[in-house]
Amino acid sequence: MNSKTKYVIGNWKMEPRTAVEARALFLSIKKQSSRIKNTSIIICPPAIFLGDLQMAHSGNKISIGAQNVFWENPSSGRGAFTGEISANQLIDSSVEYVIVGHSERRALGETNEIVAEKLHTIVEAKLTPILCIGERLRDEEGEYLSFIKEQIETALRDVPHNKIKNIIIAYEPVWAIGRGDDAMGPKDMHEVSLYIHKILVSMFGKKIASGVDVVYGGSVERSNAEELIKGGEISGFLVGHASLYADHFIDIVKIVDNS
Ligand code: PEP
Repeated sequence: MNSKTKYVIGNWKMEPRTAVEARALFLSIKKQSSRIKNTSIIICPPAIFLGDLQMAHSGNKISIGAQNVFWENPSSGRGAFTGEISANQLIDSSVEYVIVGHSERRALGETNEIVAEKLHTIVEAKLTPILCIGERLRDEEGEYLSFIKEQIETALRDVPHNKIKNIIIAYEPVWAIGRGDDAMGPKDMHEVSLYIHKILVSMFGKKIASGVDVVYGGSVERSNAEELIKGGEISGFLVGHASLYADHFIDIVKIVDNS
């Protein structure tokens, strides 16, 4: 592994149902994470709960991430954009990280170009992007590799070189998301990690590329986290459904922390 930083990122998606449940889940994760030493824990709740987590968050090492941001008017961070949330508003809610390009948002129409605009906004606002990439399907001809390449190249094409090392890339093959025990194997994960690194080297050179952290997402469970982190050549995980159970999530964090 090139990087010294390790991450476990919880993507709560459109869960839990209420603010009371969100605070309880966060507090339970917070309580159980006091002995974690070497791993950054990032919780990304629905935007409506950011204020609740901000209150529960004080004095804690857990960071808060957002699941989305709007890209228009990045400098003023305000305007007539019904339903959208600006980077400034996220910062005001103690957000430090932003997920961008998640496959579930791409499925709703978010293109590589939109992802690039959002990523630019996040970087300009000095927040840390968690750039999600990953193929929908695997084909024997290897077309999926060009798909991943295009996602990375478009998203990163306008990012100043000195900001690249602050980006976390989350490789999330869509076919492996939300499948329970059907995560990718560590050998395939290792191969893709090398491939992503190769793309970054060709875009930015070896030194910058080696500073980028790659995490894996897609059916990470406490039962498979150990073999993935040991064999996958990755810096941690983006965890979906298992992040909604504090004890499951913390077990995954402990595995990463001890790796
Ligand atoms: C995700 O959607 O980001 C994800 C990793 O989901 P899951 O862990 O549920 O597969």
